[in-house]
Amino acid sequence: MIKFLDLQKTNARYSAELKQAAAEVIDRGWFLLGERVKTFEQQFCDYTGAKYTVACANGLDALRLILRAYIESGFMQANDEIIVPANTYIATILAITDNHLKPVLVEPDIQTYNLDISQVEQVVTSKTKAIMPVHLYGRICWSAEFEAIARKYGLKIVEDNAQAIGAYHFYDDGTRKRTGNLGDAAGNSFYPGKNLGALGDSGAVTTGDDSLAEAVRAIANYGSHQKYVNKYQGLNSRMDEIQAAFLSVKLKYLDDENEIRRKIAAFYLENIKNEKIILPQQPEHAESHVQHLFAVRTKERDKLQTYLAQNDIQTLIHYPIPPHKQECYAEWNRLSFPITEQIHNEVLSLPMSPAMTEAEVEKVVRIINTF
Ligand SMILES: *Cc1c(COP(=O)(O)O)cnc(C)c1O
Repeated sequence: MIKFLDLQKTNARYSAELKQAAAEVIDRGWFLLGERVKTFEQQFCDYTGAKYTVACANGLDALRLILRAYIESGFMQANDEIIVPANTYIATILAITDNHLKPVLVEPDIQTYNLDISQVEQVVTSKTKAIMPVHLYGRICWSAEFEAIARKYGLKIVEDNAQAIGAYHFYDDGTRKRTGNLGDAAGNSFYPGKNLGALGDSGAVTTGDDSLAEAVRAIANYGSHQKYVNKYQGLNSRMDEIQAAFLSVKLKYLDDENEIRRKIAAFYLENIKNEKIILPQQPEHAESHVQHLFAVRTKERDKLQTYLAQNDIQTLIHYPIPPHKQECYAEWNRLSFPITEQIHNEVLSLPMSPAMTEAEVEKVVRIINTF
């Protein structure tokens, strides 16, 4: 059986180091707001290039906390609008509505599956306060045009960097910057299945904005900068010391793992040859993609999934129901986003993990080619 993502096998490679990291935390007896988190925050700043990292409980909270901090600062208020791709995981949207802000859904580009930047400007209104691009499947969503629109209308850019940690944007002058350090702030997820996965939930906000970082840190800790003194009506969203210790181990291997993912993707792209299947288009620079998910498209998606399962190949659908068709957003159920809906009806994510063997990758290709 070829698993979609074999987490047991992926983490087994670092088993000794992870056990050592856990043992150190247990022996020290300090579980929250300690040295391990502080160390990981610094390492994540060094990795992304961001000035500040504020660790928190998960990726959804990272996005919620950023928006909440903008509200506390007076930059945003209830019913302000946030432009966001219609084609995303629901957490992006939940972060907005949880703060009583209004998501303005924009169709993706059918080539990239990411927010169609050319459609952003036409939905800007006097209530628009931010754009939330999602680097979906690990592919960067960024351009000079995009930055210019944000600047023209004074909008913040909040990256949903849950799926793309390690990806680069290449500027025209030849320099490059990592996701999580492109916009005004970013939400990062270390959910176990993400490219940089903890052994449980955790996440982080990255930003270059001093006052935003300070506010997020306080809001995530009951709204308190100083014990028993509360500036905000905050929440409890902190990263455990033990998760930080695991993440410090795993961060060292992230670039290598992303490189393995790129090799697998390159092999799929080169060798999958089946007229029924549309392969994902690739960005100009290979390093602008960390291949979190390798999603193919076909009109016969459910048949393909069944066929692969019959051949012991596990696949997943990211995602089967778009946010605007979810029961929790009943008010949007009658809206039409045809490209988003087409993607949701046609995509299938092939096995993709740094622990896959060459034989497994070859088998996936062989079976798909006979579909
Ligand atoms: C995983 C994910 C999130 C949420 O991260 P959690 O750590 O699971 O809360 C948000 N946005 C996107 C696009 C994701 O893939």
